[in-house]
Formats: sequence, structure tokens, C-alpha cells
Amino acid sequence: MPTPTDPAATAPGARAGAPAPIIEFRDVEKRFGDNVVLKDLNFHVNKGERVTLIGPSGSGKTTILRLVMTLEEATGGIILIDGQPLTHRLEEGGKRVRLSNREIKRTRTRIGMVFQQFNLFPNMTVIENIIESPVHVLGQSKTEARSKAQDLLGKVGLADKADAHPSSLSGGQQQRVAIARALAMDPEILLLDEVTSALDPEIVDEVLGILRNIAETTDITMLIVTHEMQFARDVSDRVLMFDGGSIVEDSDPHTMFTAPTHDRTKKFLRAVL
Ligand code: ADP
Repeated sequence: MPTPTDPAATAPGARAGAPAPIIEFRDVEKRFGDNVVLKDLNFHVNKGERVTLIGPSGSGKTTILRLVMTLEEATGGIILIDGQPLTHRLEEGGKRVRLSNREIKRTRTRIGMVFQQFNLFPNMTVIENIIESPVHVLGQSKTEARSKAQDLLGKVGLADKADAHPSSLSGGQQQRVAIARALAMDPEILLLDEVTSALDPEIVDEVLGILRNIAETTDITMLIVTHEMQFARDVSDRVLMFDGGSIVEDSDPHTMFTAPTHDRTKKFLRAVL
């Protein structure tokens, strides 16, 4: 049990006996030039939680995932991963200091991301795509990485495609390779950015089925941006509704989809459901 002197008990956002946050945004600002996309954004995701971000286009959802993946850096505030600063730390007096590239890279290896457009390396075979980071970032031997990649290909139903090039695969198959590639790094956090938006409707379900299976069989923390509301409802522990870079509603999926409280959420859901 945390005691009043336990730092975990007094950390902002901590509740007695609550699981530890693995992702924490504290007063995060992100601007692109004069465009302030996120302002004073505060939220956290607990270890093992599946959190879906919904909201109109342009409300900052993808930017949040890209910040966690360190593809973008916040222009204000800090982001903590498992209590450790991701790209910037705050010094006494509030001065923001950027971490070294090496420190940032070390945290980034704990996080995987799957993109809308798959982003596979076109000049590499499927298995080369999957083992690239385990070998070059984690230092695994090629034999070990290949064996694991082959297992993962089996899990995503592509055991026979190891030596194929991405261009010879369908969109759904390429996305399954991208999922296997992200899992090959054994991520603690998996970021899913509209992973079915570029797929033909008839193959959306095959990709969602694999993600559902990952959600059911692993304890990977997931932060998801999706327009697939049924999927969001099925896999999420919590849904955050964004508008204009702020959270307008934060609730469990049942409440969010059947009894939203905010007018903006009601309007958004009426348009997409
Ligand atoms: P969503 O995922 O909710 O659709 P985004 O996070 O993609 O929203 O975009 C939020 C805002 O940030 C938009 O106004 C978008 O134009 C802007 N934005 C995103 N990425 C960039 C970028 N690299 N450069 C300039 N503006 C950007």
C-alpha cells in the first residue's frame, strides 16, 4: 500500500492503489509555426491499458501518437514514459532541457508504431523488414531475429510470405507485416495510427482481427487512433474524445458510445456511427 510519503502516492494524477502510468502528458504543447495543435494537454495511460483517441480530423490525435513515438517533439511541457522523461525534462525552476539523442533512442525502443500507410521498406523482403530493427537496434543475432520473425509471420497468417517483397502483397497483407514488424521489437507500448484507413473495406476485418487477438493475448499498452468505432468499443478500456487539441470527454467505451455527456461528442458520434 502506498504511504503518504511514497512518491508514487503523491505524483500528479496518482490514485492510491492505482496502476502506474506508462504514458503521461504534462502540460504538453505542440505547435507547428503559429498553429498551436495541442495546448496544456494532460492525460495518462496506465500500464496495460488500451486507450482510443477519437474526434474530428485535425483535432491532434495523430500528433499525439507521433509525439510518443518521438517522430515529433513537444514544444512545451513534458512527456513521461514509465516515469522517465521522453524527450525533455524539467529542471528546478521550470527550465525545459532536451535529453541526448542516445537517451531518447533508448526509450523509443520500448515503443512500436503501425502507420496508416504501412511504411514498409520497399527494397527489402518481408522478413528483412521485420528483422531490421531487432538486429540493428536491439543487437539480436540474425538467426534469433529470423526465428522470431517467422513465428510472428505465422501469428499474422503470412508464414509463407517471408521472402516476398512488399509490392507483391495486398494492402491487408502489408499491414499485417507492419504489425509483425512492430511486435518484433517486443514493445511495451503499441501505437496504432488509423491502421485500417488505407485498406479496402473487405480486408479491414482481417487486420482488426489480428489486433483484437494481440489485445486479448498480450499485456501491451495500446494507444489507438481509429475511425472503426466498433473496434474501439471492443478493445478499449478508455476512450478520449478530442476536439481542437483538448480532451472534451474521457470515459469507458460503453459510456462514451451510449451515453456521451458532451454535446461535441454527441455531434461527432452522430456523424460517424
Ligand atoms: P488528427 O489526427 O486528429 O486528424 P493531426 O494530429 O493529424 O490531427 O493534425 C492536427 C493539426 O496539426 C492539423 O491542423 C494539421 O494540419 C497540423 N499538423 C500535423 N502535422 C503537421 C506538420 N508536420 N506540419 C505542420 N502542421 C501539421
